Amino acid sequence: MGIPKQRLAKEAIFQHLEAFRAQDLDWRSGRMFGYVFDPGREVMEVAKEAYAAFLSENGLDFTAFPSLLRLENELVAMAAGHLGGGPKTVGNFTSGGTESILLAVKAARDFCRAKRPEIREPEMILPVTAHAAFHKAAHYLGIRVVQVPVNGENFRADVDRVRQAVSPNTILLVGSAPSYAHGVVDPIRELGELAREKGLLLHSDACMGGFMLPYFRRLGHPVPDFDLSVPGVTSLSVDLHKYAYTPKGASLVLYRDAGLRKYQVFACSRWAGYSVVNNAVQSSKPGGPMAAAWAVLHFVGDEGYLEIARRKLESTHRILEGIERMKDLRITTRPDMCLLAFTSDTVDVFRVVDEMARRGWYIQPAFAYDNSPAHVHLSINASNVGREDAFLEDLAQAVEAAKGEDTPELPAGLEEGLAGLDPGALDDEGLSRILEAAGLRGQGLPREMAGINRTLNALPAELRERLLTAFVNDVFRPEEG
Ligand SMILES: *Cc1c(COP(=O)(O)O)cnc(C)c1O
Repeated sequence: MGIPKQRLAKEAIFQHLEAFRAQDLDWRSGRMFGYVFDPGREVMEVAKEAYAAFLSENGLDFTAFPSLLRLENELVAMAAGHLGGGPKTVGNFTSGGTESILLAVKAARDFCRAKRPEIREPEMILPVTAHAAFHKAAHYLGIRVVQVPVNGENFRADVDRVRQAVSPNTILLVGSAPSYAHGVVDPIRELGELAREKGLLLHSDACMGGFMLPYFRRLGHPVPDFDLSVPGVTSLSVDLHKYAYTPKGASLVLYRDAGLRKYQVFACSRWAGYSVVNNAVQSSKPGGPMAAAWAVLHFVGDEGYLEIARRKLESTHRILEGIERMKDLRITTRPDMCLLAFTSDTVDVFRVVDEMARRGWYIQPAFAYDNSPAHVHLSINASNVGREDAFLEDLAQAVEAAKGEDTPELPAGLEEGLAGLDPGALDDEGLSRILEAAGLRGQGLPREMAGINRTLNALPAELRERLLTAFVNDVFRPEEG
């Protein structure tokens, strides 16, 4: 395939693009619990128009586009006011939660390089429920992860375990508000006390909850303290492209003061081109996501978000109650927000996911890790509201169907072969053979995932990671011929 010799007409282009979407999940159906946070058509129109209006502006140089400097500062100011910030709070707009977290970890690393130069091998302490983005940041930035178990009943960070893990090399503590998997807010106040006692930095990961939790609290829902008003919290991440319902590519990282944020900034004046100074990972930085976020926050407004929160809270309660009534399913723990996890002792939850997919619902499977069981995760959003009964009816049917059938076997010997494998001894060819045998090579993506998920669930995390890496390395290649 090359660049097309003959140009395509506009209509043909859009026909192609639409056709490409034929196999996509239908997020407009309100039957997806994750990935797309759909505010409805009216808000989407406003977002699109604002995005398009700033399609070409480039945040690389805010002196050329002071409009983007203003948008960014106003978004940070709105979030700071919403999240307990004070007059010293600063922050930046980023492409997503992962970038916000990467930057907060970089700032912590470089702050400690300056203030605690005796630390040669910096460590950060992560409860097992902390988002994978922290592991990615550690991997990119050369920081050692010290992982600690969470409370086995409520899946909140166990502050005593965090305390025991503190070493002379510790630079950063992390709490989630809420954690993605189980939707519970960690004891950030106690973590803040520990951080202050030990002279450590503390990041509150409010990527999921930062925007909505203050509204839930205003509605009378009990919400543990998690924001910048908590003593000891030195940085916080909050995604706008999740529960602020703005288009993707929108998150904020906030800091207690500019003295810490300074270590996030990167400047380079030692090359032959223009001097670079970036406040984020991106250098050329699109204006569209920022303008769209600003537009959506103003179009929905405080009252609008409160109303969305009210509907989501109700919806979450109905779904929680419905699942609690099902004798085969159990909620892993009572969540603090509109995210929840359920598991089962009697049916294969991975089969339930496949059965729900057949009925047109997308719910997300997650593997067991440490004391967190294999489970199904739901992030409830505005477009799911009103579909609770239909969802619960189909879920009950899906559970029955899953009980009636055995999980499809993987090809003979594959499961046993994998169980005995030494991940360290596995080479690329071995990985390819496994993908081939599991039906994950060549012929597109399988629809029935239960057998594969059950097998992956039983493997050590390191082997899962190697298989998933090989899979992605295989999927992303230009079509042959
Ligand atoms: C989604 C999420 C992230 C990562 O955000 P992306 O926008 O997907 O990069 C980090 N932490 C938590 C708790 C999240 O839910």
